[in-house]
This record gives sequence, structure tokens and C-alpha cells, in this order.
Amino acid sequence: EYVILDQQLIPKSEASINFDDRGYYFGDGIYEVVKIYNGQPFAMEMHLDRFRSSSEKLDIAFPMSNEQLSELLMSLLQKNSIDNGLIYFQITRGVEPRNHLYTRQSAPVLTAFTQATKDVATPQEKGLTVWLTDDIRWLRCDIKTINLLGNVLVKREAADHHCHEAILNRDGIMTEGSSSNLFLVKDNVLYTHPATNLILNGITRQLVIKLAKENNYSVVEEPFPVEVLEHADEAFITSSSVEIAPITAVKGQLTTVFDIGPVTLHLQKKFAEILPK
Ligand code: PMP
Repeated sequence: EYVILDQQLIPKSEASINFDDRGYYFGDGIYEVVKIYNGQPFAMEMHLDRFRSSSEKLDIAFPMSNEQLSELLMSLLQKNSIDNGLIYFQITRGVEPRNHLYTRQSAPVLTAFTQATKDVATPQEKGLTVWLTDDIRWLRCDIKTINLLGNVLVKREAADHHCHEAILNRDGIMTEGSSSNLFLVKDNVLYTHPATNLILNGITRQLVIKLAKENNYSVVEEPFPVEVLEHADEAFITSSSVEIAPITAVKGQLTTVFDIGPVTLHLQKKFAEILPK
């Protein structure tokens, strides 16, 4: 199994990371996850654009073009013969003696690995249960940073309550999942949090909004209070990994159940049509 370290493809067993990488000291870096269908990355351009936007928001000067990065990532997919799975890539701000103050002198360090799809449960078909809890993250959730402590803690909390995903409550407003975006459906209208600093604007979220509009659903991008969960007809989460996954039960700060409804099923069908053949 090969990985990318800087611009090189090397066996994973030979990849070693510098002790003074700011990624380790500060979680000072950004990442993307792209799903691979039949050997082809899905929505790679959108992911590369978001990667660049995250790097700009964090003042990390990343010297590769989208084309160069995309070619390098493709070479790893081919080297590891990935047909279906994902590619993860990240950059950290680079290597410097530990100091909160960064200098803008260090070269970003790029790493990437691939993962073939495992035969696991299928949340897309069976749905999943979610745990409603406080959003304890920082105020720049729009940046896809590798510093994910708020996300990992709520994910563990959800699992400890036998739920698949945490959905997050910031001051009475539902923002998103720990690694997904959240949609509600009521009377054939879709509701989701607007793309502000309080959520990551998911690529899947953007594609679902587009597909929904193309199929004549209204989409309301507004903050909505957690209580509306109790009045929704359907609910689902979206992410590159789970695509569109129906929510069948909510636990935690509020308890409710949902059937897997027709709007979710319709959007899943439309989404499947845009995936690489
Ligand atoms: N929100 C958060 C916090 C996430 O971590 C993710 C997945 N990385 C998403 C939303 C979904 O984003 P995407 O559809 O681009 O995978």
C-alpha cells in the first residue's frame, strides 16, 4: 500500500513524519475526503476548490495547482488499484520548532492515503440513529481543518448512546452532524442550515440542494430551532461517505422517530444518477 508524502508516492511503511510538523503540535492543517466510484473520483473539482478555500482562510500558502494535485492523487489511486473507496488528503502548515506564532516560512506538508470500500452496514438503505447534543466546536466550522476535537468527542458520545452520528445544537439551533450536514423535510420542502461559519458547506449538501431544486422542491436555507425536528416528515444527513442517509430516530436532548420517506428516496435516486458510472 502506497501513500503520498510531499510530492512522492512511497510505501506506507516507509513514510515518516517530521517531529516538528505543526499538524502534531497544533492540528494546524486542512484536509479533504473524496469518494471513488469505479476508479473515478466524484466531484474532485469541488473538493479541490474547497481545499484551496480552506488553505486561504488559514493563511497556508499551498504552491500546487488543482491540476497538479489532482494528477498526483490520481497516480496514488492507480498505484493502489482503488476501484471503490476514498482518497484522503491533507496539508499541514509545515515544519517549525513549536511556537504558536507561525512564520510563513515553512513549506506545507502534503500527505494522502486511499482506502477501499469495506462491506459494512448500509446507512443509505437502513437509515441511522442520531444523538442530539451541544455543538462544542469553535466558530470557524466552515474551514475543513484537521483539528477535529469537537467533532470526535461528540461522535464518541453518540456511539456511547448507541447512535451512529451526533447532530449538533448551538444555542437552540441545529447546525449539522459531527461529520455530515443535516436536512429536514416538511410538506415537500427541504430545510437546512445556511452555509455560514457555523457549518461545513458539504459538497454533498451543495449537490443535494441543486438536485432538489432541479426536481421542483423548495429549499429553505435558514437556521431552525431543534424543536422543529418533532414536526418534520423526514430527516436525512449527507456526506461524501454516506451520500444521503435517512435518519430513523433522534435521541439525546430530544426524542423522535422518522420513517424513511418518499422525498429522501427520490433524492437518493437522483443522486445515484450523477455518480461516476
Ligand atoms: N460537516 C462536517 C463537519 C463534515 O466533517 C463533513 C464531512 N467531512 C460534512 C459536513 C459533509 O461534507 P461533504 O459532503 O463535503 O463530505
